[in-house]
Amino acid sequence: MDSRKRRLIELRERYDDGLRRFGDNFAGLFYPNEADRLTRFDVMLDLIERENEHAPVVLCDFGCGTGDLLAHIRRRSMQNITYIGVDISPVALAIARKKFPGVSFLEMDVLDESADVTAISCDFLVATGVFTGKFDMSHDEMWALVASTIRRLWPQVRRGLAFNVMSTIVDWERSDLFHLSMDDAARLLHDLVGRNVTIRADYGLYEYTAYARREIAKSHSTVQYIPAMKPQIATTPSLLRYLPRIDKSRIYSNHGPLVLDLQNRITELLGLSPGILITAASGTAALSGAILASSGCASEERPFALLPAFTFAATALAAEACGYRPYFLDVDPSTWMLNPAEIKDWDNLERVGVVIVVCPFGRLINQDQWMKFQAETGIPVVVDAAASFDLLQRRPGHIVLPAALSFHATKTFATGEGGGVIAPDADFGRRVTQALNFGFHASRETRTAAINGKMSEYNAAVGLAELDGWPTKITALETVAGSYRRIAKKHGIGDELITTPLIGANYVLFHAHNGIEAQILHEALIEKSIDSRFWYGGGLHRHEHFFHASRRGQLVVTEQLATSLLGLPVAPDLTEEMISRIISCLANARGRRPK
Ligand SMILES: *Cc1c(COP(=O)(O)O)cnc(C)c1O
Repeated sequence: MDSRKRRLIELRERYDDGLRRFGDNFAGLFYPNEADRLTRFDVMLDLIERENEHAPVVLCDFGCGTGDLLAHIRRRSMQNITYIGVDISPVALAIARKKFPGVSFLEMDVLDESADVTAISCDFLVATGVFTGKFDMSHDEMWALVASTIRRLWPQVRRGLAFNVMSTIVDWERSDLFHLSMDDAARLLHDLVGRNVTIRADYGLYEYTAYARREIAKSHSTVQYIPAMKPQIATTPSLLRYLPRIDKSRIYSNHGPLVLDLQNRITELLGLSPGILITAASGTAALSGAILASSGCASEERPFALLPAFTFAATALAAEACGYRPYFLDVDPSTWMLNPAEIKDWDNLERVGVVIVVCPFGRLINQDQWMKFQAETGIPVVVDAAASFDLLQRRPGHIVLPAALSFHATKTFATGEGGGVIAPDADFGRRVTQALNFGFHASRETRTAAINGKMSEYNAAVGLAELDGWPTKITALETVAGSYRRIAKKHGIGDELITTPLIGANYVLFHAHNGIEAQILHEALIEKSIDSRFWYGGGLHRHEHFFHASRRGQLVVTEQLATSLLGLPVAPDLTEEMISRIISCLANARGRRPK
């Protein structure tokens, strides 16, 4: 046996011995503590994250031990990673395989001439804590082992690798650990990738991590992944202006000064009368608040909430939270909404406690018709205008029915989580406030059915910062919509594209001829690393819960619309180049027939 092999076996026995003595935990793997080990995992995963890499990648965990990096990856829900573990220890691998059935864990001495290293072919490779201990090897022996291992692995790595070693910039070096000068590490990697070397020593441990990334030639690069929605809310610096006010007031919720400020500023922006905009913890809470303030809880005589199946789940859940059983009706093919003229003569109307009209994708409703419906039937009408904020800004004072807005991150105006109710008058507004605050009014007595649906001061701070940047953000989104329209027209598919101002600026929809074509387009986009989404799934009646818990009429149009309106990627910083990629992919795929 050559001395290298002997060294490696000694090293393996060290680790196996640790596992036997301390078990499968940080001590058994010679880490000083668990927190440091998790920090190190995060620093390693930077290799992938820095590339803004959300597309599927293969990651090789070299010297994986019992597979704890994979546990960390799963904790962080990094679902784009396909993991391969490699180690020399059958003891550690047996534990790993037991913990993660179905994952590939390979036993391999990569320096062995006969080893098939192509089996570890990957996009990224990390070696975490593999080169930090040298035990009783000399520095030179360990250095030779590290350098030859890295050189042997590199040809199997498509994008980049990272490893950590102990630093030499420390008060004292431990003889059993491998302290390597940053120059030596950088030189080793420079030989492989030229200047594309990064050294990180800023994470508070007595070590550093060295990264090498291949320069990717444009031609064979895997193109950048485009997500269906990439929200961008007010950034930290703009948010920081508002936070000291919370420290100073020591009011954290309960209609504090920031919430009041936010309500005033939105009131002004949307051209509303004072006192009618009430913020909420979410769009769903806002909708429940509006329902409770208008029709109260469901009653035995009127157990149903009438609503379209063509909407997001929250519409029906908000009704259920107020005790109603959803009753789904179909929508009109041109407006995508319930048709009040059709519903007026519907048999079951006397069993309905509330009608929830949805503004699909923010599209504004015809209020006159619904005011008339409300007056004629006596049934309260509440509007789910979750995604209509920017459209309402274009129509100051437009809303006269009670309406709920969502300020969720994916909507145009966003506070992270949050929402608001636009009340028809100040008295209704007071009832909403009460319904969102335990039913309290002027005392701590619960006087009405209610939830806790108040917005906190922290979310209000985000909202205020978001308002500061609102003109810039909405302009950016409108520019994206404009580019989509222009480019689609050039490719002959302009008529199928639906954008703001018909719908909210956070959506761009492609209206396919039917569900089959939409599915083909969806898959063609995936092939090009572009995500798209059927925002309302296949209609609410198809959700497991609502399938059992609801009643419904014929939903022919809903089925048709839900499957053929494909949501295309939107982000304030979506570039023209990305939009061109999306549109040309759609234009090319459109001619295709089902396989
Ligand atoms: C976003 C949305 C909601 C829910 O809003 P949250 O703020 O996420 O609770 C409700 N209805 C529709 C139509 C939506 O698009």
